[in-house]
Parts: sequence; C-alpha cells; structure tokens
Amino acid sequence: MSDARTAAASVVDPEIRVITIDELGILRAVEEDPASGRVTVTITPTYTGCPAMDVIRADIRRALARAGHPDAEVRTVYSPPWSTDWISEGGRAKLATAGISPPAPVPTAGVVPLTLAVRCPQCGSPETEQVSRFGSTACKALWRCRSCAEPFDHLKAL
Ligand SMILES: [Zn+2]
Repeated sequence: MSDARTAAASVVDPEIRVITIDELGILRAVEEDPASGRVTVTITPTYTGCPAMDVIRADIRRALARAGHPDAEVRTVYSPPWSTDWISEGGRAKLATAGISPPAPVPTAGVVPLTLAVRCPQCGSPETEQVSRFGSTACKALWRCRSCAEPFDHLKAL
C-alpha cells in the first residue's frame, strides 16, 4: 500500500466519524503517476443528495497534502453505483458499535428478497419500527426499538 493510498484510506466519513471512506467503500482507486508523482484519487458518492461529498473531497486533498502530495486530484465516478454492499465487514462492525444499524446486504439478482428485520443496535431485538424516513442526515432513517424504546439511526440500504 503506498503512502498516498494510506493517507486517502484514513479519511473518515464526515457524517459517520467512526468509519473511514475505505471501509465505507467510497474509495475506489488511488493512482500515483510514476513520472510526475501526481496522485489521482477516485471516489464513488454514496447516497445522492448527501452534502458530505464536498467535505470528503476536501479532506482527501488535505490528507494527501500532509502525506507529501499537495496537488492531488479527486475524481468522482458514478458507475458502477455505490451500494451498501461495499461497506466492509470491519466497517459494519464499527457502525454497529457506534449505534448505527448497518444496512442488510442487498439481495443478489434472481433471489426473491426477504423482508429483513432491522435489529436494534442497543439490545439486538428485531422488534423495531421506522419513526421517520429522515434521521439526523438525509442518508439515515430514524428507527425506534419496541423492546428497549431506544431510538437509533439506520443507514438506508440501496
Ligand atoms: Zn432495543
């Protein structure tokens, strides 16, 4: 792993500060031009309408500047589209620890999708209900646990 890759991978999501953009699956590629040393970072935005992408771009440039690459370019690609499946196992564990219930993996094409219960991140109970489609940010929905009555954020699955 190059120092540029390490620097870019260490940038945290500005909304969910416990998880890095690498764990979230936003970071697609970090390339360093062998001749000029110029770094190009490729990212794929998560949820449309998330204002966090501008912050992420600025944070990547700042992290790379600290690592000795002051002229890094951040490219955004929309294809293939990001999905919640790209969140790494470690990322899902961190989300759970932070009280954000990780989205269930999107069923593979051809498989009849089952309605999966959203589990409470506090007590693990599947007895939960959606309170609002909009949680603390546009990317999260607000849910409440019927067992322990705790509200929690649930990342919308895509
Ligand atoms: Zn609960």
